[in-house]
Amino acid sequence: MAFSTDCIHAGQEPEPHTGAVTIPIYQTSTYVQPELGRNKGYEYARTKNPTRSALEANLAALEGGKHGHCFASGMSAEDTIFRMLKSGDHVVAAENMYGGSYRLFSRVLEKFGLEFTYVDTSKIDAVRAAIQPNTKIVYLETPTNPMMTITDIAACAAVAHKAGALVAVDNTFCSPYLQRPIELGADIVVHSTTKFINGHSDSVGGVVVSNSDEIAEAIGFLQNAVGAILSPFDSWLVLRGVKTLAVRMKRHEENGQAMASYLAHHAKVKKVYYPGLPDHPQHELAKRQMNGFGSMISFELGSKEKAKAFLDHVRLCSLAESLGGVETLISHPETMTHASVPAETRKRLGISPGLVRISVGIEDIEDLIADVENAFEAV
Ligand SMILES: *Cc1c(COP(=O)(O)O)cnc(C)c1O
Repeated sequence: MAFSTDCIHAGQEPEPHTGAVTIPIYQTSTYVQPELGRNKGYEYARTKNPTRSALEANLAALEGGKHGHCFASGMSAEDTIFRMLKSGDHVVAAENMYGGSYRLFSRVLEKFGLEFTYVDTSKIDAVRAAIQPNTKIVYLETPTNPMMTITDIAACAAVAHKAGALVAVDNTFCSPYLQRPIELGADIVVHSTTKFINGHSDSVGGVVVSNSDEIAEAIGFLQNAVGAILSPFDSWLVLRGVKTLAVRMKRHEENGQAMASYLAHHAKVKKVYYPGLPDHPQHELAKRQMNGFGSMISFELGSKEKAKAFLDHVRLCSLAESLGGVETLISHPETMTHASVPAETRKRLGISPGLVRISVGIEDIEDLIADVENAFEAV
């Protein structure tokens, strides 16, 4: 089926006993077994829950993968990928990624003997040079957060596979509507479902999707053994959210384009980072690799004072961490999402005191632009 149909129907067969069109919330911890040694496919709800299974099947289909596993957060989904490795294994990771991913790698996983090399993954030669004999995973995020740099997934996959390493892509910024890394050669896709996939800013969750039975078996084992599962209620909320993913993303895309071109022409904006603008250094690659450019935009106002004056005067746009909700969310990466990234790294990447990031929602664009215009008057 095509994408919008899969959003609504993949993994979502009507409930067999009553015909309920919506998958029920199976709020149970265990399942009765008809006789010793026989069960109906469900034994204990950490291992398997029908609401979660429906969501896992749905998200696997949307990413063009065979297997999905849902977790209590995007971070626990990421963590599970790295629990497939052992002490002494090496990972090549994007130097500019979600601040929480860097925190997980540098302050948690390194303690257990995993080694990380951070490179600008938009430079394929840098990825190639960073690979070592013990490299097991090349971990990518594209577009990057918050600088919107694009990494060529297919080129990285070719380099990684030649060295016997897997490629994992954090696809949170795009959702499978805009980008499907498995089709580009990635082995694993991870999402914070908290963002565009659920889209309503009312659930925290994550998913790992893969096409390989072997990887899925390892992830499924860890999901049960470690236990950071998505609850039945959250699984239901995300199933509800994902039904409108295609229509939401279409509108996010329209509003994102309109906001980016408004900002690009504003006298108080020094620079706009958005892959949909023709002057973005990787606009052509983005066009080839993505089915649109999304609604994540960063822009430079020149100083922390200016960023503060602007952010203190938005009304309709909510000053908040997170992204991908139906409502427009606006943030200050330096002090919010990327506060855990070392200051010198932030400086090198361009995460400056004057940088503002906006996740354009699906409100009426005139209202959003009027709100931003009004806030600019305070700058
Ligand atoms: C939010 C986010 C995460 C972490 O997900 P949580 O659901 O907050 O744990 C990981 N990667 C990216 C790109 C994100 O935006």
